[in-house]
Amino acid sequence: MTINTHPTLPEFEYVRPETLAEASEFLTRYPGEARPFLGGTDIFVRMRDGLITPNFLVDVKKLDGTNDLRFEPQAGLTLGAAVNMNRVIASREVQAHYPLLAEACRSVASYQLRTRATVVGNICNASPAGDTIGACLVFNGVLHIHEVNGLRQEPLAEFFLGPGKTTLKPGDIVTAIHLPLPPKGCAGVYLKLGRNKLSDLSLVGVTALGHPDPSLPSGYRFRLALASVAPVPLVPTQAETYLANQPITPETIREAAHLAAEACAPIDDLRGSARYRKEMVRNLSAKALSEVWEKLK
Ligand SMILES: Cc1cc2nc3c(=O)[nH]c(=O)nc-3n(C[C@H](O)[C@H](O)[C@H](O)COP(=O)(O)OP(=O)(O)OC[C@H]3O[C@@H](n4cnc5c(N)ncnc54)[C@H](O)[C@@H]3O)c2cc1C
Repeated sequence: MTINTHPTLPEFEYVRPETLAEASEFLTRYPGEARPFLGGTDIFVRMRDGLITPNFLVDVKKLDGTNDLRFEPQAGLTLGAAVNMNRVIASREVQAHYPLLAEACRSVASYQLRTRATVVGNICNASPAGDTIGACLVFNGVLHIHEVNGLRQEPLAEFFLGPGKTTLKPGDIVTAIHLPLPPKGCAGVYLKLGRNKLSDLSLVGVTALGHPDPSLPSGYRFRLALASVAPVPLVPTQAETYLANQPITPETIREAAHLAAEACAPIDDLRGSARYRKEMVRNLSAKALSEVWEKLK
């Protein structure tokens, strides 16, 4: 067997449509052969490694609205698909209203990579390890999708079907993710465990968000999202429901972290064992919830 130690990109045709309608039409004409791309930090690596071999790459970075980063005090944040992560981190509005999203973006690889990588690309790649997905989930993100027949909106919570698998059909282009206004008085944290501090995918990632909610017995609502511990980014709803109904104490936080670990279905891979991952979910969930609780108090 010959091992190619210097793999290169296979040939492909670069396509740059002028409009979203043209882009969707082209993608529909070549299902399985044409794919949209943004920063290219996932897709080119997968092509180089021979995992996918599209004949056409459709650049959707300049299309209508995909470069917008817009905060509306009555509606929330609309993050265009082509907005790179450094722009998200630098945005005053994101820092003021969604610091958790900026924190998640900051955990991704390096400054250089983040000048290309986008939040929407992170989502569409549908890796359970995607670092920015948790923040978008706990803020109840909604995807704006351009399809051949028009536009649709889809809650992010319903988007993931498996590793690399989403509800997207040929011709679908995600143009933006919308985050509704953050809950009043919320606090969040993202804890990422990698093999090193820089430029590694998460072995486990825990996103936690909490806010006062007088309608609940505990008086607080906590949201959790877990990365790298299931075939899709995971929301452990049992842990969330438990905390909604119990007084928030160190003991109930520990129990919620236990419920989060129980909800996981991690795998063994070269970065860590399933058992280790589960234990780390327990530890990091307890730490994340405690940190959020301290901020809320
Ligand atoms: C060295 C290195 C380090 C990395 N470190 C991290 C890390 O720490 N954390 C992390 O989460 N990720 C990491 N990644 C993965 C990658 O950078 C991120 O997932 C990034 O957010 C992908 O965004 P992109 O814009 O480059 O996506 P692209 O590569 O352009 O696209 C990703 C996928 O989404 C599809 N797609 C793109 N745009 C659209 C659209 N508008 N509509 C529908 N489908 C679309 C593409 O067809 C492709 O399948 C790393 C990658 C590299 C190379």
